[in-house]
Amino acid sequence: MPFALTPSYEDNPRLQSLIDNLRNYLNGELAEYETKLGLTQESHYTREMLEPVWRRCRELGFYGIHLPTELGGQNLTYTELAALKEEVGASPRVLSMSVLGDMGGPLRAGSIFQYATEYQLEKYLLPVLRGEKACCFSLTENDAGSDVRGMLTTATPDGVGWRLNGHKVFSSAGPFADFSVLIAKMASDSEDDGPDSYSAFLIDLDSPGCTVADGDVPMSGQHIEADIILDDCYVGPEQLLGSLGEGLRIGLGRVTVNRLLHCPTALGGARRALELSLEYSKTRQVQGAPLAMLQSIQHKLADMATDYYAARSMTYDALAALDAGRRPRIEAFMCKLFVAEKAFAIADHAVQIHGKSGVVRGSEIESLFQRLRMFRILTGSSEIQKNGIARQLLTS
Ligand SMILES: Cc1cc2nc3c(=O)[nH]c(=O)nc-3n(C[C@H](O)[C@H](O)[C@H](O)COP(=O)(O)OP(=O)(O)OC[C@H]3O[C@@H](n4cnc5c(N)ncnc54)[C@H](O)[C@@H]3O)c2cc1C
Repeated sequence: MPFALTPSYEDNPRLQSLIDNLRNYLNGELAEYETKLGLTQESHYTREMLEPVWRRCRELGFYGIHLPTELGGQNLTYTELAALKEEVGASPRVLSMSVLGDMGGPLRAGSIFQYATEYQLEKYLLPVLRGEKACCFSLTENDAGSDVRGMLTTATPDGVGWRLNGHKVFSSAGPFADFSVLIAKMASDSEDDGPDSYSAFLIDLDSPGCTVADGDVPMSGQHIEADIILDDCYVGPEQLLGSLGEGLRIGLGRVTVNRLLHCPTALGGARRALELSLEYSKTRQVQGAPLAMLQSIQHKLADMATDYYAARSMTYDALAALDAGRRPRIEAFMCKLFVAEKAFAIADHAVQIHGKSGVVRGSEIESLFQRLRMFRILTGSSEIQKNGIARQLLTS
């Protein structure tokens, strides 16, 4: 895999054409739309702002593009999907995460399509694909993050259904979602009932007993997190996703796949930070010469490019293994760890190279730095990846 700041895919004409269309949309129509609405990373997004983007991305074929053709997708390989995600990650557009459906759309729904009944497909998932509904995913609680089994949200049997009580936090896309894929612990009558069991439910966020409150604002300044508060919220059997007790399997999902598919987004951000740093160091003058003439700056650029190349190579190598039908488990932990740590190191160098303009609130470099910092915690922190690598090493 060659090193390139603008990767090309000439050996795969279908992918190259998709990438060209995606770049054109991000830099053209979507850029104009954001300017017209005056959107910034810190805007409060409404459905009226987002729905036209979801529907347009569906029309253009981006929304749900990874899905099989019978669901209106283009049956992409993991490698092809990753290449598109990398472009989205490299884009300065504040709505870029809506284009392939990471934020409330088909990519957020992820692998749950395979568990859905006909009713659930019709009521919940197909409308998400059409850009008519949005979903969020609710696993985390204040005292249950990495340790998901520490959750307190409980589902207690009531007739043919269940009553849910609990408080979920950090449900991304929650402020504008219609429903949540929510994981709850099944109430048991006694300690003799066996080990804890968890189930996944599709919760309509306007149900009686369900409140969506503004969540904490992360360091990126985005207003995209919600708390989901359940107070005796009734769910019927048609809202149970998969079988009883399958909740953590569904919630943590095809972890190897999900872990790997989060990497290209961070790689895209890292690539953009390197690109901006190169431009800046060539134009910024110090002592009558471009910054790029300083060896200390050149060495930073060299480290950034090398880290990006290494992180990208290992990610695409593991994705190729997935496409070949293998299950690169230890490699997926390694990729998430390495990509997160190196993308953040690249962002940190980028801020340093930009000096004061790199720390200005709202600048693109500052926003990349915040996003890439969070990636070391999101979707499994770096420490959790190290636990996974060590476990695999010690048990194989
Ligand atoms: C912007 C953002 C968006 C998010 N979106 C969602 C979402 O849509 N849905 C959702 O359900 N959740 C979401 N989360 C929650 C995210 O998954 C959790 O933040 C993450 O799992 C870590 O949990 P925690 O923050 O509670 O940290 P903790 O689990 O409390 O960990 C704190 C520190 O201890 C370390 N640590 C914890 N356990 C171990 C261990 N066993 N071994 C070694 N080190 C350990 C961690 O690595 C970390 O450094 C989001 C979080 C953020 C910040």
